[in-house]
Amino acid sequence: MTYRIELDGCINCSWCRRTCPTETISFFLTRHRTHVIEPSGCIDCGICVNVCPVNVITYDPTYEHNPTELEAAKEHARQWARRQRQVKLQRRARAEAAVKKVAAGRSAVAVPA
Ligand code: SF4
Ligand code: SF4
Repeated sequence: MTYRIELDGCINCSWCRRTCPTETISFFLTRHRTHVIEPSGCIDCGICVNVCPVNVITYDPTYEHNPTELEAAKEHARQWARRQRQVKLQRRARAEAAVKKVAAGRSAVAVPA
């Protein structure tokens, strides 16, 4: 099981590459600008299919995974998810700090009577 990109219809928007949790979608500039899924890294999550704006990613049931490669791809996805959570928490902390700073600045400004 894996997914494949029909190259003719791909508009190279990169949405699939940016959202793939196993980072198994590559972008090549050589010869043709194109996105390609390396099947050994695909965990069949379907995220790329859902984000593709032109529906050119299709399911390929003929591909058979090597179990070791599949487990490595799943572990890659777990680590990717942990990194995404960390980034999200850091962004939230920065946003909260910025809000507090603005609020503190407002309270420090004397309001004329
Ligand atoms: S199905 Fe999931 S793992 Fe496979 S290429 Fe798409 S987003 Fe990546
Ligand atoms: S999301 Fe679809 S159109 Fe965009 S790069 Fe991926 S396959 Fe191509």
